[in-house]
Amino acid sequence: MKEAIVYPGSFDPITKGHVDIIKRAAGLTDKLIIGVLNNSAKKCWFTPEERKAMIEQSLGEEVKNVEVKIFNGLLVDFMAENNVKVILRGLRTISDYEYELQLAIGNSTLSRKTVETVFIPASQEYAHLSSSMVREVAINNGLLDMFVSSEIIPQIQHRVAQFKD
Ligand code: ADP
Repeated sequence: MKEAIVYPGSFDPITKGHVDIIKRAAGLTDKLIIGVLNNSAKKCWFTPEERKAMIEQSLGEEVKNVEVKIFNGLLVDFMAENNVKVILRGLRTISDYEYELQLAIGNSTLSRKTVETVFIPASQEYAHLSSSMVREVAINNGLLDMFVSSEIIPQIQHRVAQFKD
């Protein structure tokens, strides 16, 4: 049995960069849990339930050992509830690294060193890609098919239309 992994994030919305990390990580473990953060302090375009559904639609039937769960509160508590010791994060840039290092140290301390954070570097073609960039392109009616799975484009466009109402 390989160590289970939790990949936490906002996924507002899930991008092809996230999907790439998920597929690569799914090959390394028997069980990958995607933790969708329900953070009331962060203003998201999509509800946690919408973000969860969009992740499932983007992944399709291809990846079998992945489960998507919504969580509130501290990541270390979610880790303990699921009995998982490995946090996965993606790294795109040096600025990601500085932010991620702080989070990793914080989570290590909060868990009394029972959880470890591991990183997978972004693939070259997605190293520029973020959910905020997708939202920016969407609000300006730009092409989204390079950045997100085609299954979720209608939902993103629908949200933009609601904003413009
Ligand atoms: P958060 O708000 O927790 O940073 P995100 O959904 O923005 O949530 O990102 C979740 C994780 O995925 C982070 O570790 C982030 O660095 C990583 N990530 C985001 N976009 C990409 C990408 N294009 N390639 C690789 N990793 C990425």
